[in-house]
Amino acid sequence: MEILANYINGELTPPHSSEYFDNINPATAKIFAKIPLSNEEDLKSAIESAEKAFPEWSRLSAKERADYLIKISNLIKDNLEELAIAESKDTGKPLQLAKTVDIPRASANMEFFAYAITQFSSESHAGKDSINYTLRKPIGVVACISPWNLPLYLFTWKIAPALATGNCVIAKPSEITPYTAYLLSKVCIKAGLPKGVLNILHGTGPEIGNSIVQNKKIKAISFTGGTTTGRKIAEISAPMFRKISLELGGKNPALVFADCDLEKTAEGLVRASFANQGEICLCASRIYIEESIYDDFKTQFLEKVKALKVGNPSDDSTNMGALVSTQHLEKVKSYITLAKDEGGTLLCGDEDFELEEKNKDGYFLRPHVFENLPNHCRTNQEEIFGPVVSLNTFKNEKEAIKLANESEYGLASSIWTNDLSKAHRIGNQIETGIVWINCWMNRDLRTPFGGMKNSGLGREGGLEALRFFTEPKNICIQY
Ligand code: NAD
Repeated sequence: MEILANYINGELTPPHSSEYFDNINPATAKIFAKIPLSNEEDLKSAIESAEKAFPEWSRLSAKERADYLIKISNLIKDNLEELAIAESKDTGKPLQLAKTVDIPRASANMEFFAYAITQFSSESHAGKDSINYTLRKPIGVVACISPWNLPLYLFTWKIAPALATGNCVIAKPSEITPYTAYLLSKVCIKAGLPKGVLNILHGTGPEIGNSIVQNKKIKAISFTGGTTTGRKIAEISAPMFRKISLELGGKNPALVFADCDLEKTAEGLVRASFANQGEICLCASRIYIEESIYDDFKTQFLEKVKALKVGNPSDDSTNMGALVSTQHLEKVKSYITLAKDEGGTLLCGDEDFELEEKNKDGYFLRPHVFENLPNHCRTNQEEIFGPVVSLNTFKNEKEAIKLANESEYGLASSIWTNDLSKAHRIGNQIETGIVWINCWMNRDLRTPFGGMKNSGLGREGGLEALRFFTEPKNICIQY
């Protein structure tokens, strides 16, 4: 069994506590690795090494830092197969998905910010009697904390801009899926990344996660995870006036209009609802359909959902793997019971399905579709973060917007129509940070990424991330 290690001061390091906990494969329910239980002492060592590395790392040219990121990006590409297998084993997601989405995107994140930093410039303002120019300085030692659903993808999405801008990083992956972050440590060692520039600490949220957040030497935090954790981080950070970027939960609406391309819409929304077992913060979970096409849409949608193959993540024909943990599976199941209690009609999800012998104890669940749920009920309002969606109707555009916006979340939405004016009009009024028209999860890494309301604070991506990880300083010269 593999024993994972922290990555501190450029080396794989056992935890001070000498304690470990289990890393479980959700598709088999078997333990396959041991995770370090890090504490304050490990954090102290990591911060010391990051502080020591900062003066030199921050003084390198953008090109020199970019070269390291490119090396890391290339090594991720070279090890795609190994990393994808590890990601699938750790999360339960289909191997095919890890190979085509998670790992290529982790490599692309490193490459994107390597190129971006070499093109990053700051502003200057010429006035009547003066000229101002703005410097953008790295902040110092910053933290990146990420969740379990897209482990290496989201971990690198934060680390890459933090490093590119000249900061030194304390990074913590989710304790539920730490394996590819551990493999990233090895990649960084191979790439010759200077010691202390990146430190990766493993352990639980309430222990090492909380210690990172409480530590005043951490000058900025980029966090992706649940809204409750995000709120705690905001409360602790506020008195320190520390910069925070929070990418939190969602309850994403999809609006389906009578003039849409029905086949393309049903296909797009099956993917939007159930990709990665519905465990993507951007997944559609409330689908609103114009009354006149409700029955037609429902028929097409259900036909495609029922055809999804759930099972062995290593099998190329599998569409959905296992949910990430037994606790999460129980949480999702509790929402299925709740949906029934709230008067919902289950349209599919309870069919029998076969699992291979080795997957018999895995945390598998078929995609569940409900109808007849009122908009204000908990199933339609709370984030489930699993393969459960509800179909709802609307009469007209005004009602569609109202229903979509009746939510405490505001992360992503999608609009399905062939009337472009209507699409733009609704896109303008919908209260989400990301709006997709006739598509879902079509990502251009240059665009601002993030949510409104309880879905977060700040934006990631492109210049937004480079600005977040730098402190602007304005210098004014009088002529
Ligand atoms: P989580 O909040 O439980 O954990 C996220 C990370 O925070 C983990 O590394 C965890 O160890 C750490 N953590 C937990 N408690 C902490 C504390 N008190 N102090 C510091 N760190 C702590 O979230 P999760 O269950 O891992 O992820 C699922 C959530 O993430 C969902 O709500 C989902 O919508 C959200 N998410 C959002 C986005 C986005 O871009 N908006 C992307 C992916 C996931």
